[in-house]
Amino acid sequence: MKIREIFDKKTVFSFEVFPPKSTSSVDVIFRTLDELGDLHPDFISVTFSAGGSGNSSLALDIAEKISRMGITPVLHLPCINYTREQIDKTLAEASAKGIENILALRGDINPDIPPVEEFRHASDLIKYLKQKGGFDIAGACYPEGHADSNTLDEDIENLKIKVDAGADHLITQLFFDNEYFYNFRNKIVQKGINVPVEAGIMPVVNKKQIERMVVTCGASLPRKFVRIMQKYEHNPEALLDAGIAYAINQIVDLLANDVDGIHLYTMNNAYVARKISEAVSGIIEV
Ligand code: FAD
Repeated sequence: MKIREIFDKKTVFSFEVFPPKSTSSVDVIFRTLDELGDLHPDFISVTFSAGGSGNSSLALDIAEKISRMGITPVLHLPCINYTREQIDKTLAEASAKGIENILALRGDINPDIPPVEEFRHASDLIKYLKQKGGFDIAGACYPEGHADSNTLDEDIENLKIKVDAGADHLITQLFFDNEYFYNFRNKIVQKGINVPVEAGIMPVVNKKQIERMVVTCGASLPRKFVRIMQKYEHNPEALLDAGIAYAINQIVDLLANDVDGIHLYTMNNAYVARKISEAVSGIIEV
C-alpha cells in the first residue's frame, strides 16, 4: 500500500528500525520485527547506509520481511554517495521485493567519502523517482532547521523545492520540545507546503542515547528533559520508565494538536515501542 493513501484515512502511526551492524544479529532484528508487527503500525521504515559503513543488502532483506508480515515497508534511500546506476540497482531490488515506498534522502556528508554529486540534494533524487514512477515518496524535514542551513527559513525554502519535486509526505527529525514542531508547521503552511507531516519521536531510554543526544543530535534539549535525564541517568530502570513517559507525553500533546502522524524511532527496542503503543492506543487508532 502507498503511504499517502493512509494519511487520507487516519492519523498515521509508524516505526523506524535500522539494520544491525553485525550479521549475527539478523535473527534478533527479525524477532524484533515480529514483536513490532504485533503492534500493527501503519508502516515500518528501514534506515539505509549513506555509503561507507552499514549493511545495505540487510536493509532490503528487512524491508522484504516487513512486507511478508503484511505491513507496509518504507525503504530509506540516501543518494549523496551513490551513482545513478547504483540507485537504479537498489530501486530494482526494492521493486522486486514488493517495496513501493521510499524515503528519499541526501544522507550526511562524510568528510572521508567524496560525494558522487549525481544527486546533490534529496530533491534531485525525488525528481528522479517521480520521473521513473511507481513509488510513493517521503522526504525528511527539520523542525529546528537542518545543520547545513543558516536559518530555519532558508531550510524551509529548500524544503519547498523538495515537496515541489514530488515528496508525497514528510517525516521530521527527532525533537524534544513540541513548540518547535508547531512553529515549523505554521511556517511551512505559510510557504504553501501542504503535504502531511509525521512527527519523529525518539524515546531516550538509556545513558548511551543521552550521550549521543548531547553530542550529535542538534535538537534543543528543554530544561525539563535535561532535568529528567540528569536525575535518572545512573538508574537504568528509572531512566527507561522516564524516557518512555516523556515520549508518551510528547505524543499525547501532538495528537491533541492534530498531528498528521507519529513516527517512532524505535532503536530496534520492541519493549519500548509496545509500552508507547499501549499508552496511546485509546487516542490513536493503531
Ligand atoms: P536535503 O533535503 O538535500 O537537505 C540537506 C541540506 O541542503 C539542508 O540544509 C537543505 O536546506 C539544503 N538543500 C536541500 N535542497 C536544496 C537545494 N535544492 N538547493 C540548495 N540547498 C538545498 N541518513 C542516512 O544516511 N540514512 C538514513 O536511513 C537516514 N534516515 C533518516 C530519516 C529521517 C526521518 C531523517 C530526518 C533523517 C535521516 N537521515 C538518514 C539523515 C539525513 O540523511 C541527513 O539529515 C542529511 O544531512 C540530510 O538529508 P536530507 O534528505 O534532508 O537532505
